[in-house]
Amino acid sequence: MDSCFICSKHQGTITTAGKMIYEDDYVYIGHIDKGGNPAYLGYVMIDIKRHAETLADMNLEEAKAFGVAMARISKALRESEGAEHIYARVSGHGVPHLHMHITPRYPGTPKEYWGPREVLDWENAPYGTGETLDRVCERLRAHMEMDDETINE
Ligand SMILES: [Zn+2]
Repeated sequence: MDSCFICSKHQGTITTAGKMIYEDDYVYIGHIDKGGNPAYLGYVMIDIKRHAETLADMNLEEAKAFGVAMARISKALRESEGAEHIYARVSGHGVPHLHMHITPRYPGTPKEYWGPREVLDWENAPYGTGETLDRVCERLRAHMEMDDETINE
């Protein structure tokens, strides 16, 4: 799948602005980066590394890794970034390679902005660039490493 954007990204044949948070043999977690424009803090994507198109196309090992990745990044967003709720969304309309959008909801978000995309539109939602974004990624990375043992119990 040379033409697949996500495969190309993981093969390193193209570079993207996203920031790596976690990676293993099966999954990749990165923070979105709008290339200088403010990004919603804590908006991460979980990619499956192999070219599996949908949630229904994962093998057992991938499904395990994906589930663990979801749990760990969600826990990190709650405990490190103070999220009160975590939304997850898969559409695949743009790129037919399984990737999940994870968007945290922060305390104080008015109910009319509750939802996986809706949180992005709240005028007081936390957005950031550059160092702000780097610090969020560093905290999430550190928290996931710290959490390695507790979540495997
Ligand atoms: Zn692909």
